[in-house]
Amino acid sequence: MMNLLNEILRHNREFLDSTSQEHGDEPPTVSKVPTREIAILTCMDTRLVNFMEQALGIERGHAKVIKSAGNSISGMFDSVVRSLLVCIYELGVSEIFVIGHYECGMAKTTSESLTTAMLSRGVSPDAIQMVRHELEHWADGFSHPVDNVQETVSMLRMNPLIPKDVAVHGLMMHPNSGEVEVVEVGYEL
Ligand code: ZN
Repeated sequence: MMNLLNEILRHNREFLDSTSQEHGDEPPTVSKVPTREIAILTCMDTRLVNFMEQALGIERGHAKVIKSAGNSISGMFDSVVRSLLVCIYELGVSEIFVIGHYECGMAKTTSESLTTAMLSRGVSPDAIQMVRHELEHWADGFSHPVDNVQETVSMLRMNPLIPKDVAVHGLMMHPNSGEVEVVEVGYEL
């Protein structure tokens, strides 16, 4: 097994050494309130890490970023919606960007593929049975990433907990070039 924890801790010490040379003992502070009033819901895809933000001009301090597998929402008050409610009501967010991407792994993930893998890793069938309905709804409901962005946007727009003056946009990103296409616009341009 690779010792990733040690590798990361070593890097962290080097990072702190280099930044303390730059700033001394008082690192510059960045507000937790996003200066551009944006919340982004996107996929956990590795190719978007340290890339999507650059491709869109989003810098540290600008936006709230929520990530999940396939940037989807499973209900009116799931963990993504809860995070968005904090963004809106506590942190001044006025626009939500749902950003899916082409070649999303969730399009190939099914309840069957996950169940088979879980069973082969020793997960008890009873535990899988307890989540079977939710698992099927979530994993088998995702067929195409563009449809999924549209679905997520419309669920947010119809969510009675989210005020109507919050604009919800839907975008698709090409994970290799960073190019985006607009799928849904939240207000008149
Ligand atoms: Zn994805």
